[in-house]
Amino acid sequence: MAKQIILAPLALLPGSPTPEPASIEVDLSTRLITNVRRGLHLESKHDYSEVVYIEEGRVLLPGLVDCHVHLNQPGRTAWEGFETGSTAAISGGVTTVIDMPLNSIPPTTTVQGLEVKREEARRIGVKTDLGFWGGIIPGNQAELVPMLTAGVKGFKCFLIESGVDEFPCVQEADLVQACDALKMDVHAHPPDVADPSHYRTFVDSRPPAWEISALELVLKIARQYPQLRFHIVHLSAAGAVPLIRKARADGVTNLTVETCFHYLCLKAEDIPHNATQFKCCPPIRDEANRKQLIDALLDGTIDYVVSDHSPCVPELKKGDFLTAWGGVSGLGLGLSLLWTELGEKVGLSRVVTWLAEAQARQVGLEGKKGVLAVGAAADYVVFDPAAKFEVSQDSLRFKNKVSPYVGMTLRGVVEQTYLGGQLAWDGTQALKSTGILL
Ligand SMILES: [Zn+2]
Repeated sequence: MAKQIILAPLALLPGSPTPEPASIEVDLSTRLITNVRRGLHLESKHDYSEVVYIEEGRVLLPGLVDCHVHLNQPGRTAWEGFETGSTAAISGGVTTVIDMPLNSIPPTTTVQGLEVKREEARRIGVKTDLGFWGGIIPGNQAELVPMLTAGVKGFKCFLIESGVDEFPCVQEADLVQACDALKMDVHAHPPDVADPSHYRTFVDSRPPAWEISALELVLKIARQYPQLRFHIVHLSAAGAVPLIRKARADGVTNLTVETCFHYLCLKAEDIPHNATQFKCCPPIRDEANRKQLIDALLDGTIDYVVSDHSPCVPELKKGDFLTAWGGVSGLGLGLSLLWTELGEKVGLSRVVTWLAEAQARQVGLEGKKGVLAVGAAADYVVFDPAAKFEVSQDSLRFKNKVSPYVGMTLRGVVEQTYLGGQLAWDGTQALKSTGILL
């Protein structure tokens, strides 16, 4: 048996608030962790085909999960792709990516569409493990159960226009039909004008009330279908938070909520005129809103944080805030962003819970991903929590290097990422593609 042991002076083990020394054994044939022991133990090197020594000062983390990524292949491969997107992910310690059902052509709204994407991913090869969300659009109800059977992790729909023609939004009646058979995830961003170079103009064109009314609809349906699970994607309006708190207090337990790195780390006041790399939907709001979202994350109202990496070609980001494509690119930067923003306040364990364990649970991979424990995938990250780096275009690994984070100095560097026990990111480049489709 090809056996690996990792000797880490500091490792973040489940249930432990702070990193501690650990020895972790991996069966390289199954790609799984087979033993976790507290302390550093190596009785005989000959028992192992590989010994991985983690340097002092580095922390061994579980591989991260990003449940909200648009890889756009096939169909809009100029915007992103399996290879570049998964390279960006692995460079930031993300070993599991869940791809959103829209912006590729075909979209993932039929079993056939899912198979086309999987075929393409297999052909290209991926640097991370990769799963897929399905989509609900008007009229595709008959595809939903077959898509679930074929392995999608849940479903996303839009309650306003999505931005692309092949993924139309649904009405309440469509949603009710879909719910009759399904567990599903609901895209709660509600329907999508002054001086369009001013960011304020764009923010005002997408008021928080839209998100709140979408949330109200989702809550209504969640109450009607207690056996299904509902999920709010990319929550941006802090005004929705009291509704979520109240619903939970009233006993609604089938609702989860995500927000994105850009809503926690960026604020409207800082966005220059025509800086369309900041444009996303829903929009980045003001500082008071940002602080309330952070409070909601800290008190558990928001369950986890995703990238919503949604790139396009640079030409589509030209122009003003009303004409440019709405989507922020930041795949792979999440750990450093959140560690910089909240690390001192909450510590590494909570940050990693939001970025790994909570998202693994969301897609049915609890205990299998996002945790350094026996039986979990041998995905792990060597993280230097003290090192700093400046985000530059050269440091970005995704295809189109247009990002609001360029120029920011972040704390915490991913030095290596291992996928299934194999080195997949060595600090400067992604190694061979060993990702599997989930
Ligand atoms: Zn999205």
